[in-house]
Parts: sequence; C-alpha cells; structure tokens
Amino acid sequence: LADFDLFVIGGGSGGVACARRAASHGARVGIAESSRVGGTCVIRGCVPKKQMHYGAHFAEYFRLAGSYGWDVGTPERAFERLLENRNREISRLNGIYIRMLESAGVRLFEGHARLRPERDGEDFRVEVAGETATAARVLVAVGGRPHVPDGLLGSELAVTSDEVLEEVYPLPERLLVIGAGYIGVELASILHAFGSETTLMLRGEYPLRGFDQELRECLTAELEHGGLAIRRGIVPLAIRKEGNALTVETSGGPLQADKVILATGRRPAPNTEGLGLDAHGVKRDPMGAVCVDLQYRSSTPGIFAVGDASNHAAASLDGEGFDLTPIAIAEGRALAEGLFNDNPVEVCYTTTPTAVFGLPQASTVGLSEERARTLGHDITVYRTRFRPLLYTLAGAERRTMMKLVVERGTDRVLGCHMVGDDAGEIIQGFAVALTAGATKADFDRTVALHPTAAEEFVTMYQPAPA
Ligand SMILES: Cc1cc2nc3c(=O)[nH]c(=O)nc-3n(C[C@H](O)[C@H](O)[C@H](O)COP(=O)(O)OP(=O)(O)OC[C@H]3O[C@@H](n4cnc5c(N)ncnc54)[C@H](O)[C@@H]3O)c2cc1C
Repeated sequence: LADFDLFVIGGGSGGVACARRAASHGARVGIAESSRVGGTCVIRGCVPKKQMHYGAHFAEYFRLAGSYGWDVGTPERAFERLLENRNREISRLNGIYIRMLESAGVRLFEGHARLRPERDGEDFRVEVAGETATAARVLVAVGGRPHVPDGLLGSELAVTSDEVLEEVYPLPERLLVIGAGYIGVELASILHAFGSETTLMLRGEYPLRGFDQELRECLTAELEHGGLAIRRGIVPLAIRKEGNALTVETSGGPLQADKVILATGRRPAPNTEGLGLDAHGVKRDPMGAVCVDLQYRSSTPGIFAVGDASNHAAASLDGEGFDLTPIAIAEGRALAEGLFNDNPVEVCYTTTPTAVFGLPQASTVGLSEERARTLGHDITVYRTRFRPLLYTLAGAERRTMMKLVVERGTDRVLGCHMVGDDAGEIIQGFAVALTAGATKADFDRTVALHPTAAEEFVTMYQPAPA
C-alpha cells in the first residue's frame, strides 16, 4: 500500500483546496510546499496586492474629503508602514493555512518536491527534503512564476511582482512598469496613487489584451486622467544602472526611473521543469503548462494538474484567462470530488468573472464585444458612461463605464463590463445572473437599487448606436 492516496506538489490555492477536500473524503493526503503555504495568491499575489490597493485608494478619498466636510490637512504618507502591516497579515494567513491542513489531517512536507523516475510497483515516488514518499496519485499544483523577457540585458536590475508584494522598500520617486497585463496596471496604479511618478510602458496601444476594447480604452483614459503616464508601442531593450537611477533603453528612446517593475506575464515552465515529469511522459504545452483533460488528468495515468501549472484543458476550452485563484480552487475541489467522492463536478469556465484592481477598477464577466462577434454571435450592445455621484460634490472629472453584450436571437446577456469604483464587487453579482443564463429582459425587469452605480446595469434601455 502506498504511503498516500494522493500526493500534492504545491501548497497554493489549487493544491491546498484539493488536499483538504480529498482528506475530508477520507483520502490519505500528503502535500509539499517549497516556499510558504498559501501560494502565490496569499503570499505574493491577490491578497497583498488588494491590501496595497486599499492603501492607495485613500489618496482619492483625501482629495475628496474637503468637499464632504472633512479637513484632513496635508496627509502624510507612511508607505513602508503599509508594507510592514501587509507582511504581518500575510504571515498570519500563512499560519492559518498551515493549521487548516493540519486539522484536515493532511501531512505537510516543507521543501521542494520532485518525482523520482522509478516507480514502486504502480505507485509514484515523490522525493522531498531528503524523504521519499510513495503515492497512488500525484497532483501537480506548482503554479507559475513571473516571466522575464529573454535577452533583456540588465533585467536583474528590475524587480517583479514577487518583490513588490513581498518586500519592504521605500516608495520610489520615479517608477517604470513594463507590461500591459492586469498585474502591470495594478502595480502602476497603486504606487502612482501613493505618489511615485509612474510610467506604464506598453508594446501595444492599450493595456489588458483580451478584455473588451471599450473597457480598455476607458480604463486607459481614466489612468491617464489620473496622471499616470502611458508610453505606447515601445519595447524594452536593456536596463542600465547609473548611480542610484536606472535607465531603460527602449525602442522609443531611453526612460529613467528609480525602480523598474517587469510585469511581462507569468509562466508555469520554471516550476514544472525539473519536477521529473518528462521521465513519466507527462505532456506539457510550449509555456510549460501540464496538458490536462476536463478531469484534470495529464497524459500519464495517475498524474493530474490544476491551477496555473496546467493548461486548464485549454484544448477543449478557450484556454486564456483562467490563471485565477477561484479557478485553481474550483479545479482542485472538482478533482478531489471526482477521485474520492464519486461525484463528478464540472467547473463553469464560461462565466468566470475577473477584476483589475487599478485605480479605477475594471471588471468583466462573459464575452467581450469583439469575442462575441468573432464567435459569430449576432449581438446588441448597451453602454452607459457617467460621472458617479461620489465625485460630483468635488467637481472631480471621473467617469464610470458600463456595458452589456446581448445576443439578439436569444436575448441572453453574454457579457458584462465595467470601469469604475467597486467594479469587482458589482460584477461578482452579475456573474451569478450570467451563470444562470439571464436575458436582457431579466435585467430590465429587475428593480434598481438606488442610488448606486450598479443600478445602471439594470436601467440601460437603449442600445448603443452602432
Ligand atoms: C501579482 C499577482 C496578483 C494576482 N491577483 C489575482 C487576483 O486579484 N485574483 C485572482 O483570482 N488571481 C490573482 N492572481 C493569480 C493567482 O494568484 C493564481 O492564479 C493562483 O495563485 C494559482 O494557484 P495555484 O495553486 O495554481 O498556484 P500557486 O498559488 O502559485 O501555488 C503553487 C505553489 O507551489 C509551490 N511549488 C512550486 N514548485 C514546487 C515544488 N517543486 N515542490 C513544492 N512546492 C512547489 C510554490 O511555492 C507555490 O506556493 C494574481 C497573481 C499575481 C502574481
């Protein structure tokens, strides 16, 4: 008999969720974590990022305070205090995660795990911190790492989201963020709000490739209106240090900064390489993601993968955009249900909501207008742009944009998009409506909740001019 029914490699969102659920159904589970239990989301992703986003948000409230009857004087920044408090909270959460595994009866191995090439009969052998354990099944849940562009000279002078979200450092006077994905937008927004003179550098015209084009345009306009500089259509060539400052040579000329953040995507490859998967014939895609089917089975029976380390069954799904915590958790739980509770669960990928915690926020669920058209849907678009109530007293020029993509024949709402305050909180609710298959008529007969920004989603009666 193997030591474990399931051995999970990686104690992040997907691995922990699967381990706990499997153990709750009586499976004997081991889990290995080479860094800190909690994984990217808890230690160096969503959670520390959101705490810093909250911190950054105060800047706007201080600006509005006077109009709302509060004289706050000139607020003084204590940026490093936020980072220290953030880290204390992350350590607390790390402890909670470890205790959750313990109370579920999951055995935690601290260290880097790898599969040994030889098997013990049918069982796999996993080596971690000088110990070898045998397991009937192995789950690869090792996540991904920031990608540093090949051949970028001096890239070691830049930092990635890992350092920005884990370390304590002074607020840089001048910041350059390279990369147009959601992580670049978020980190640029946050440090800019605290007072760094910030430039976001993009290869294309707009950040957030794959999101609805109007959302991208509206967010870009709002970011620029807030004073964030956006340099479009350029790529970095080299980074050099001159005294305490950094110069980034780009295809559009040099840019100076005190801190450079590389937010140029994430890849599973650094984590899935050297795991011993090749010796077992486990297929990976060009990014290094383990190829799985809709039951999270790899090409090798007994080896599974979930979360960012997998391709989320991209061959049968539209694979992009699923490297998110709730997806990793849902996949981990679905796998445990299928393996140990005879309860096949399907993860609903089509209405995965997602938010970009910039200032302002952008959030979306379902299909963008462009994607809906590419897929051949005959659609009507509804759109509204307005200045939210919060900003009117102060006369601040802030704009919120909301948009619905509706299929003409069925009246189904295929996509909901928003740029504006609390967009993430609002879109989560509408994600339920889209998952339930709501039609535009359902939106129209829903009574508005007044006065909110969210009510605009149920009061858009006129289609946008084509
Ligand atoms: C800056 C940032 C912000 C983000 N913000 C959001 C957000 O707002 N919302 C959202 O939904 N998602 C967000 N994400 C994405 C989210 O963090 C990931 O999708 C999620 O953590 C994936 O979970 P996972 O279990 O697949 O991998 P991870 O959480 O990355 O966990 C993998 C774990 O495996 C460990 N590991 C790797 N190799 C080994 C080995 N050989 N042996 C033992 N352990 C190993 C790693 O140390 C890690 O702890 C963000 C990510 C980043 C980087």
